[in-house]
Amino acid sequence: MRLTGWGRKPAVDAEVFAPLSIPDLQSRFPRVQFRGIPRGNGRSYGDSALAPQVLSSRRLDRFLAFDPATGVLRCEAGVLLADILDVFVPRGWFLHATPGTKLISVGGAIGSDVHGKSHHLEGCFSRHLDRFSLMLADGRIVECSKTQHAELFRATCGGMGLTGFILEASLRLKPIESAYLRETTFKAENLDHALALFAEQSRTPYSVAWIDCLSTGPRLGRSLVMTGDFIDDGRLRGTVKKPLSVPVDAPGFVLNRYSVAAFNALYYHRVRTAQRERVVHFDPFFYPLDGVGHWNRIYGKSGFTQYQFVIPKASGTAGITAVLQRIAASKRGSFLAVLKTFGPVNDNPLSFPMEGYTLALDFKLEPGLLPFLEELDRIVLDHGGRIYLTKDVRMSGETFRAGYPRWEEFQDLRRKYGADGVFRSLQSERLGL
Ligand SMILES: Cc1cc2nc3c(=O)[nH]c(=O)nc-3n(C[C@H](O)[C@H](O)[C@H](O)COP(=O)(O)OP(=O)(O)OC[C@H]3O[C@@H](n4cnc5c(N)ncnc54)[C@H](O)[C@@H]3O)c2cc1C
Repeated sequence: MRLTGWGRKPAVDAEVFAPLSIPDLQSRFPRVQFRGIPRGNGRSYGDSALAPQVLSSRRLDRFLAFDPATGVLRCEAGVLLADILDVFVPRGWFLHATPGTKLISVGGAIGSDVHGKSHHLEGCFSRHLDRFSLMLADGRIVECSKTQHAELFRATCGGMGLTGFILEASLRLKPIESAYLRETTFKAENLDHALALFAEQSRTPYSVAWIDCLSTGPRLGRSLVMTGDFIDDGRLRGTVKKPLSVPVDAPGFVLNRYSVAAFNALYYHRVRTAQRERVVHFDPFFYPLDGVGHWNRIYGKSGFTQYQFVIPKASGTAGITAVLQRIAASKRGSFLAVLKTFGPVNDNPLSFPMEGYTLALDFKLEPGLLPFLEELDRIVLDHGGRIYLTKDVRMSGETFRAGYPRWEEFQDLRRKYGADGVFRSLQSERLGL
């Protein structure tokens, strides 16, 4: 089967194993000579869920138990966050940490230790995870939690599928009293203004900024900073429009520096006042891109990549300014440029967030892009930052090792459990893991 990540490059012919149930996997796996990588819903952008053999969780999609007294849900790894929200929002429960798409699996959320708009207060997905069961390289199934096989628990959260295959997990949901949030949008004149707004709003549960990354000089980093908080009007059942879909690949000329500049300017000016408040359903607030099916086709057949990095707080303003200056000078605008603040780092060796600022930018894959991104890598590393593995398709082993100083500890643990010879992706081979 031909597989890609969400960025659509590279494409790989892969043999896909998709067990129907955990017993089905247990009966088949010892006979299969597997050398490959677990895969969830393929929403990671690059090559982290790609290999010539793939172990897919997509048919492991059952809810197993729910305790309304604690909000703990036990479900198989292929359950999508969208499935959880469909069933549990009407009952008054939401996710503590959710990324900008709900079309990802629970296994993928753990593999990438995903973060969302609440990271500054609620941390990553793993913070709200009680336990999971993991199939190791020799087919054994072990129980992992903060007290049982704790080092495997930590390495698997953010471990990009390289320690084993997550079968099922128990996660804590959070109570809500409405499916709606109060959203406030602030217009920030430049980066300093945006970062000051984040600091002022640091007690608001959700925050994010959309940056116009082609503006320069005193307007460098002008943006819309959006914050949100669930309201308590008891309306747990809300409706949203069905998604539109991009039907075909957009031709190459649709995306160029002029269309990106026009889009960015329009986006910024769509909010006319310095501050705007409205009540919105959780779906467009958390998942605006899910509202356009197959939106990755707007980048055409050549595919695209999302460049996401984090820079620690102390050097954050200087680092983000240097990256934005370099992008504006290159005139390689990005349709999507999202800025967030992160709270403290956690104890998982490959988890991405650290206290500081993160910026995510989409770039079409085209000649000249890779050397340009290497220039950005240099700026990020010089400011003590790192690149997000789940979005990556091109960083070097050297860049990875400089950004993730605990990589050796991770690799030692993989060796200890025999995972290094069995669980491998195109990404792990490129990074030397
Ligand atoms: C529109 C969009 C917005 C996004 N926004 C954010 C965001 O705000 N924050 C954020 O953190 N991420 C974000 N992401 C990235 C996305 O959350 C992650 O890539 C997520 O891991 C994808 O989950 P998946 O089920 O599609 O997994 P896949 O892409 O299939 O796999 C991702 C990784 O998890 C591993 N994995 C998957 N299943 C298992 C399993 N059962 N056992 C062990 N390992 C497994 C894979 O080996 C791989 O390394 C976004 C992606 C998109 C497309």
